[in-house]
Amino acid sequence: MNEINIEEKDAVIIGAGPAGLAAALMLKKKGIKNIVILEREKNPGGILRQCIHDGFGLVRFKEQLSGPEYAQKFIDEILAQNISLYTGAAVTGLTKDRLVTVVTKDGLRKYQAKAVILAMGCRERTRGALGIPGTRPAGIYTAGVAQSFINLKNLMVGHKIVILGSGDIGLIMARRLTLEGAEVLAVIEKLPYPSGLPRNIQQCLNDYGIPLYLRHTVTDIKGRGRVENVTVSQVDDAGLPVPGTEKEYACDTVVLSVGLIPENELTKQAGIAIDPRTNGPIVDENMHTSVDGIFAAGNVLHVHDLVDYVSWEGEKLGQAAARYITGQTLPAPLIKILPDSSIGNIVPQVISGGQDVEISLRVGRPWRDRAIVFKQGDAVIKKVKQKRLNPPEMVHVKLKKDSLKSGKNIMVGVE
Ligand SMILES: Cc1cc2nc3c(=O)[nH]c(=O)nc-3n(C[C@H](O)[C@H](O)[C@H](O)COP(=O)(O)OP(=O)(O)OC[C@H]3O[C@@H](n4cnc5c(N)ncnc54)[C@H](O)[C@@H]3O)c2cc1C
Repeated sequence: MNEINIEEKDAVIIGAGPAGLAAALMLKKKGIKNIVILEREKNPGGILRQCIHDGFGLVRFKEQLSGPEYAQKFIDEILAQNISLYTGAAVTGLTKDRLVTVVTKDGLRKYQAKAVILAMGCRERTRGALGIPGTRPAGIYTAGVAQSFINLKNLMVGHKIVILGSGDIGLIMARRLTLEGAEVLAVIEKLPYPSGLPRNIQQCLNDYGIPLYLRHTVTDIKGRGRVENVTVSQVDDAGLPVPGTEKEYACDTVVLSVGLIPENELTKQAGIAIDPRTNGPIVDENMHTSVDGIFAAGNVLHVHDLVDYVSWEGEKLGQAAARYITGQTLPAPLIKILPDSSIGNIVPQVISGGQDVEISLRVGRPWRDRAIVFKQGDAVIKKVKQKRLNPPEMVHVKLKKDSLKSGKNIMVGVE
């Protein structure tokens, strides 16, 4: 058997979505030239390629762009900067010593990297993960798969549709399917509040007269070859179906929008510590994981609401990774950030205390007229008052290094 040649790289970036592209551009700007971006799809841009609605880039470019338009700005720059981008290249192996194995159209390749950038995005939860009872007919799609069929392949997925889950992708698809001539009968959400952004509830459901049923779930799917009928039931406070509340919907399609899971199989292979709240790697303020020389940004780290912040995170990572590659020591993480049960998740999970940091967090449930409070011991180091706090909306909070006491963990909660 032929030995595989191992190529040396300063930085290997896994994933050419907005996080990977932004990280690559920042690395190049900081003088790192020996870079390769590995992307398993035929084209770069990540999930944005299939998001043809507008609303991207409002924070960063102050204009309304579609997903492909937003991604293209970065792809053009990658090409202009001559950064090596290898598509049709799926990374299948990553060690803690930063040896990267990739299956490409030209065969198996290996890279030894000074720094590895994890930018693999996330994937959707499926019917299997939910365990919905019933038969196994055709016509059940995740919202992202339905989006790719319609927007990338020009294939219609169905005519009479029930959407389970009120995540943003499902809401966007409710509108998209309606515009394509389908009838969206209902959006069914188990929680007492929507999982998607308020603007998407208004623009994708209310504006089209699509009903949203909170505290409901799909309890049965019937159909022989194709979906024919679903049963929807109310749920109680414990999330269990209430007998006697069943409603039947005659439909041919079920679209699932029930959550995203950061894509971290490679992360786990490399032995990187995972945060059970985000399902992504634990990082410090430099986006450095628990394994030396491996960094992470974007949806692989935590699921974002706006792509603008994904690009910003990729750039922050690029700055730190460039320092690491050129032999500068990154500050050791000494302070843990510990959210209480009012907080859904928080990134970074550890910080050095030696520099100003920006924290991204999501609350665990909706709150009104409350404050997010950061404490070290009894001392309040930051208090951010908010009229409304919603789990789908990420909150960004700046902590000044002068406000921090060295070595003391930070407790975070809604008060
Ligand atoms: C289905 C779906 C629809 C979305 N729609 C919207 C929307 O309408 N509006 C919005 O603001 N946000 C939307 N989002 C959120 C959006 O994902 C983020 O804003 C942003 O695209 C995340 O960027 P990323 O670079 O972290 O990940 P991604 O854009 O997901 O990019 C990750 C890339 O890594 C590649 N990759 C993964 N594993 C490997 C591997 N082993 N080897 C090589 N390459 C690999 C993937 O192919 C992909 O190209 C959507 C997300 C999903 C999942």
